[in-house]
Amino acid sequence: MSDTEYHRPLGIGESAFEGLEDHLEDRSYEGREYRHVPDYRRGIERGTALIGGEVVRGFPKVPRTLVLETGIPTQFKDRVVVEEKLNGYNVRVVRLEGEQLAFTRSGMVCPFTTRIIERLVDLEALFDDHPEAMVCGEMIGPENPYTAHDYPEVDSLAFRAFDWRNRQSGEPLPVGERRERYDRYGVPQTRLFGSYDVDEAAGEVLGIVEELEAESREGVVMRSPDATRLLKYTTSVSTRSDLAYAFSLPFDYGQPFMFRRLLREGFRTIEADERGEDACERAHELGEAILLSMREAIDTVDDGGSVGERHTVRASPETVDALLEHLRDQGLTLEIESDRREDGDRVLTFCKRVQSSNDKIRNYLEGHVVTE
Ligand code: ATP
Ligand code: MG
Repeated sequence: MSDTEYHRPLGIGESAFEGLEDHLEDRSYEGREYRHVPDYRRGIERGTALIGGEVVRGFPKVPRTLVLETGIPTQFKDRVVVEEKLNGYNVRVVRLEGEQLAFTRSGMVCPFTTRIIERLVDLEALFDDHPEAMVCGEMIGPENPYTAHDYPEVDSLAFRAFDWRNRQSGEPLPVGERRERYDRYGVPQTRLFGSYDVDEAAGEVLGIVEELEAESREGVVMRSPDATRLLKYTTSVSTRSDLAYAFSLPFDYGQPFMFRRLLREGFRTIEADERGEDACERAHELGEAILLSMREAIDTVDDGGSVGERHTVRASPETVDALLEHLRDQGLTLEIESDRREDGDRVLTFCKRVQSSNDKIRNYLEGHVVTE
């Protein structure tokens, strides 16, 4: 397909496509050239990839409500389906020219995920029957190169489907049909809590969130039954753990990242109708998440160490090599901390170096004076 013809499957005009082209990033995966939309653009989902004449649609941004009682009726009309929001990394799996490829959030083919997913879930029959399918889900568990969140039911890494979309149009299957199909193909899915009337949904979701809170899980994603409207809401545990992580690398996370999370807690304490001791306890926990992690980071640098993002992966040696090349290609500096073999797999722990937090913490420790 010539370049300009991509506007057709994307469903936009030729001149709109020309406008988009400047924002596309060029990549290649094992000799295949492709382009992707790395950030949010009007009209085209972030993460959309153009490859071999095909369009692989990005996963839409999921809006969030800070207040359930008023947010739910703003987004939904009559019924709301509530499923668990898992904390891992987003992946879309498609079959192109007979080959299965896994794309991460920004639209890059991830060589690690592409290889490892074949171990985790067999999608052959699904793609034989539905070659246009885009299997959307979350990779969860401690052993992966992008996120670090533990689930008691996952030792290393697992896949959980949460959407089935057409890869070109991005259109989703209704929730019921999607759940039934994934069941039929033996694909593990995110937990379904239930379907509720809009009027009772806020109360139900608050109860579900309390349970998730107690198990340190991330939250829920609500959908209209046809799966076209989405809304997320997350637990305070997850907000605190994001904040703790961000403040452990305080100069590498954007300040809006932190501020948005602080706001969530402000609205949560009101919706939960906390006062007195309960409100103080939330304040205390929030403060601990921020200060204790920052304290540890400063202490580490003070002791001559360095801070960074540590990950462990477990896969075939070839897969690990492909991953390291992929990460280094993106300009990341990696420090290998341990590297061993277990049952034929290579188990590698590495640290993605972050520059700003290390440099700035050291400067401030050495007495750098701030003029602000
Ligand atoms: P982005 O919206 O760009 O993905 P973000 O950091 O704002 O970035 P999250 O707050 O994690 O994203 O929320 C959206 C993400 O949640 C989805 O992209 C998806 O990877 C993940 N997710 C986990 N469980 C679900 C689910 N059940 N339904 C939809 N998305 C889910
Ligand atoms: Mg997430």
